[in-house]
Amino acid sequence: MREYCTQMEAAKKGIITPEMETVAAKENMEVEILREKVAKGEVVIPCNIMHTSISPEGVGSGLRTKINVNLGISGDCKDYEVEMQKVDMAIRFGAESIMDLSNYGKTNVFRTELIKRSPAMIGTVPMYDAIGYLEKDLLEISAQDFLKVVEAHAKEGVDFMTIHAGINRRTIEAFKRDKRTMNIVSRGGSLLFAWMEMTGNENPFYEYFDDVLEILRKYDVTISIGDALRPGCIDDSSDAGQICELIEIGALTKRAWEKDVQVMVEGPGHMAMNEIEANMKMEKRLCHNAPFYVLGPIVTDIAPGYDHITSAIGGAIAAASGADFLCYVTPAEHLRLPDVNDVKEGIIATKIAAHAADIAKGIKGARDVDNRMAKARHKVEWDEMFAIAMDEEKARRYYESTPPKDRHTCSMCGKMCAVRTTNMILEGKKVEFCTEK
Ligand code: SF4
Repeated sequence: MREYCTQMEAAKKGIITPEMETVAAKENMEVEILREKVAKGEVVIPCNIMHTSISPEGVGSGLRTKINVNLGISGDCKDYEVEMQKVDMAIRFGAESIMDLSNYGKTNVFRTELIKRSPAMIGTVPMYDAIGYLEKDLLEISAQDFLKVVEAHAKEGVDFMTIHAGINRRTIEAFKRDKRTMNIVSRGGSLLFAWMEMTGNENPFYEYFDDVLEILRKYDVTISIGDALRPGCIDDSSDAGQICELIEIGALTKRAWEKDVQVMVEGPGHMAMNEIEANMKMEKRLCHNAPFYVLGPIVTDIAPGYDHITSAIGGAIAAASGADFLCYVTPAEHLRLPDVNDVKEGIIATKIAAHAADIAKGIKGARDVDNRMAKARHKVEWDEMFAIAMDEEKARRYYESTPPKDRHTCSMCGKMCAVRTTNMILEGKKVEFCTEK
């Protein structure tokens, strides 16, 4: 029997849990420093007591930037096998988190299998599942019904849940007053907004926040407080609705910590590059240094088909400025449910952003792999380069697709390879392009 319900409770009591030991070893950090961060809420270890296959990860300040992969079935695309292929892809490329965003029919069959086999932490948005789980239309769902869905996901072993508790009457007033181009683009946020407007009631996750916390505490589910009013275009970023919701989220963060529930805060969205750093600092300030989980930010709105790139640019800036957790975006964003290849492209783009940010943040050991790559390049050791590459298969395929005559170069410059030329001169050899065979 554990002497604590949550990692945060244990940390506050001075207890070092097996999960803290695992995370500290992965992060190359002293476990006591990690425990202090968990106690203060600066780091979370999302790890539901029912998720037995998990390899725990930490999210928060001083740790490596983590990435999340979204998947799940929709009404138009309900092939469970394809979704499982995406799970395998996420695990193969080292994503630390998978969110099951299924929103069609009985989603728990897929989720149960996912939790059983996934070492990655699993997140959900119970709001997406409410209609399918309860088999009721939105207007017929009661506040208590929403809590039932939260409890069902917690019992299944979900490690963190996006709960849009910050969109209350005050935030809606600010949102309506300060008109927007794209209004609400969060799926869960739009459903809650519709429910609140149609029923005239307060947001149930806000009104019954203490009840939500009781459920989360029991299973040690981390609450990821959703940003229902995240900007959906660069024209809407940093506006009154977004900031008003962030202030509410800051207050909810403290209430969750009082009950020892671990908290992450979700963030934008679409945002011009010059606003990102200030937004990251503001979140940390208003939400008392809780870990920040960002979707994007997508830095320009005109590249459908390439939004893994627009979001990787924003994600790198965000993470270098303090964000702790990046949600991947695929080339299919804004266009369709991603296929397996889209998932791969999204993972790689987001991993690049996270790793580049870790170098900038000065995370211990982050540069080591880059230095190994530089050494392999200096020696023109292709097999070593491929083994280090984030996507070994693609790097090898590209190289082999146009092989150079001399394996100590590539087909870009051939014998005029700058690396080869300089190496030869420094080794005391002569460089003769015309006479060399
Ligand atoms: S041939 Fe050119 S591009 Fe290729 S490894 Fe050498 S310097 Fe780099």
